[in-house]
Order: sequence, then structure tokens, then C-alpha cells
Amino acid sequence: MNQLLRDIIVQAIDNKATELKDISDELWKNAEVGFEETNARKVITEFLRKEGFAVSEKLPEDNRLKTSFVAKYGNPDGLKVGLCCEYDALPFGETEEGEVNYEHACGHNLIAEAGIGAALGLKAVYDASKHMKMQIIVYGTPGEENGGGKVLMIKEGLFDEADICIMAHPAPAEVAGAVTLANIKMMIQFKGAPSHAALAPWLGKNALDACVSCYNNISMLRQQCEPINRIHINITRGGDVINVIPDFAEMKVMIRCPDLDKCDEIRQQIMQCAEGAAAATGCEPPHFEDTGNGIDSVKTNKVLIDLYKKHAESFGNVFLSDEEASGMNGSTDMGNVTHKVPGFHPGFKIYTGEEQAVNHTHGFVKWAGHEDNQKPTLINAKCLALTAVEVVANPDLFQQVKDEFEAAKKDKKVMKATELWCTH
Ligand SMILES: [Zn+2]
Ligand SMILES: [Zn+2]
Repeated sequence: MNQLLRDIIVQAIDNKATELKDISDELWKNAEVGFEETNARKVITEFLRKEGFAVSEKLPEDNRLKTSFVAKYGNPDGLKVGLCCEYDALPFGETEEGEVNYEHACGHNLIAEAGIGAALGLKAVYDASKHMKMQIIVYGTPGEENGGGKVLMIKEGLFDEADICIMAHPAPAEVAGAVTLANIKMMIQFKGAPSHAALAPWLGKNALDACVSCYNNISMLRQQCEPINRIHINITRGGDVINVIPDFAEMKVMIRCPDLDKCDEIRQQIMQCAEGAAAATGCEPPHFEDTGNGIDSVKTNKVLIDLYKKHAESFGNVFLSDEEASGMNGSTDMGNVTHKVPGFHPGFKIYTGEEQAVNHTHGFVKWAGHEDNQKPTLINAKCLALTAVEVVANPDLFQQVKDEFEAAKKDKKVMKATELWCTH
């Protein structure tokens, strides 16, 4: 790695440390839920415009993407480096007024900060070199939590032009290539018949019973699934008044597996669980609806992640081994992006207290907004920029990235539970 390029990146990001922190703090204090991140979009795009980035004025067709953005800088004929900024928060308890409270329980304010910081580092290299064939594309990707914003952006063709696309996520540990899970979501509705719950319950067809029976069927199915697969269930409607046999009930199901094919297989089994439950309770055949976007697992580009690791280690970061990281199986819509273009989604370690708070907890909310975590976030921005610039500066390396991407596409091997869990 050219020391001069490294120095330029490190300095450019350090020079903007205060402004980057301000953006992160603003996002953290005004946490907005997915697809409603109006303030975050405004703050970030205003800053990028000020830094010379061209922010696309054209909004995507899909109205859910009104808080997305695409901002570009550099040579449109050059290698296009995509950086993803997330900025959505999670519903987290209630305010004192009894309204839904939103918090950055997953630290997406720091993802935005690192992405913008990396863009500034790359911009500095571009400005200093004048001839470097590179275009920086900052993707503002809303609604990651329960929204799959990146999947909607892929459908709009927004990632088509990127040559590589990278991001990293704050976590309680340094994780290079954890296995993330694909997921699908479905809604199941049962329709029965109402009746007076005391005078003539035998005339009713109990839709809540169908729901409960379906829940129990799925619980038994879980035991027969490999442990890497996950099924989450909420019963979201179970009758409205207590003295009427519920004629309508509804449940939401989320299925997570190493790939979408396996999710589909389990979906079929869950449909049978629901059909059996409906038949047993005399309800109508259940109504099914897909409610997710089909989140894919992350295909980590090995060439890119090795570069990233090398740079992160040069700052003293210590990564978990693959075995240590094997139980950390979340999901992210970045997975779908990594099937479209070479990329990665490592976790970068932030300090989360002695209790080592994990994502989606009150502890993580606190530490995502703590100034002690500015340092690891800026280091992450530097690592993202250093990884990208190395690929841009070395065509052979970029070829390796592409070769690895194509080879991984053909590799349809499904990760078996035994490879991930039963190692002892
Ligand atoms: Zn999250
Ligand atoms: Zn997250």
C-alpha cells in the first residue's frame, strides 16, 4: 500500500472529525424509523453537497424510497466505488407521552458517519491524484431494519452501475465475515365463524384456536429444523371482544436460513402447519401473504475482506476467529447487494460497556451515541477507504475481486448446521 495514499486518507478523515461527529450526534438525537428518515437524509445530503458531491435530484419511483439518496463524486468513467450509509432507528419503548419512542439501538448513525468519512477519504485521494480513474458513489439506504430498503433500491436499478459496494456495521466485536441469514416474512390469516361465547360456542369456528394450533405445529417443526435456521412468530390478531368466538386471527412469521432456497422450503412446511390447523378447527383454508422483501445472506468477497482485514489490523483491531463468530447470525439487506456486486459487511467493534451490550439493547443505544466510539468509527471509515483505493489503484486486484465474485456465484453450497455449530 502506497504510504502517501494512506496518509492522505487518514488526514482527510481526521480533518473532518468534528463535522462527522456532529452528523452522527444529530442522527442519534433525532432517531427516525425506517423510510421516515427525512432529517437524516437532509443532514447528510446537505453535507455531501457542501463537500462537492452531486446528489441525485431524481427520487426513485417507489415512494418508500423518498428518504434514500445517491451522491457522486469523481470520474464517471472510472471504477465506481459504492459506500452504503444506513441511518434508520428502531422503535424502542414509549415516550413519556405514551408515543412510540425511536432509538439508534443498532448504531446506524455510526454506519452513516463511517460511510461519509470513507467518501471524504476517497475524495481527498481523487483530488490529490487528479488522474485516478474512480467515481465515489454514496448510497443513502433507508429502512434497513424490517424494511429491506436496499432490496427496493436494487429493484430500481440503483446499484447496477457500482463495481464494488462496501459498508461495515458497529458491533460488540470485530467480525470479518460472519454468516448472515437470508430471511422471508409472511402473514397468515385464519377465518372462522363468530358465535356467542357462552350461549352457543359450539356454533362458532374459532380462528384464534387455528392460530394457536398453527403456532404449536410450527413449534414442533422448529425441533426438526437444523439449528442455524430460525423461525419467529407473533400472533397479531386474536379476537376483538371477549364474549364472541373469534372469527378472525392473524399471525406474522419470519423465517431465517443460510439462503433463500432453504427459507422457501421451510415456508412450504409452515403452510402445511397452517392448513392442518385450519382443518382441525373447522376454519376456512388459511390466507397467506408475503410481507418481506426476501433478504439474502451476505456473500462476502474474499479478496475485498482480506484487504479490509489487513487495514483494520494495521490500526490494531483484533478480529474474532470464524469459529468465535459462528453464532453471530443476524440478517441484513446488504446481503442482496453483495449478490449484485462484489462487497462485504463486516462488524466493527465499538465499546459497549463492561456488560458488552449487543445490538438492539438499551446499552447499545447509549454507546452508539457515546463520544468514546468516535475513534473506532473513524478508523472504520479509513479502513473502508483504504480497501477501496487499493482496488482502484491496482487493476490486477480488481480483476481478482471480479473473479472471486463470479466463482462465488457458482458456489451454491448451502452452509450446513454441522459446519457452524457442531465443531466440538
Ligand atoms: Zn439491527
Ligand atoms: Zn443494524
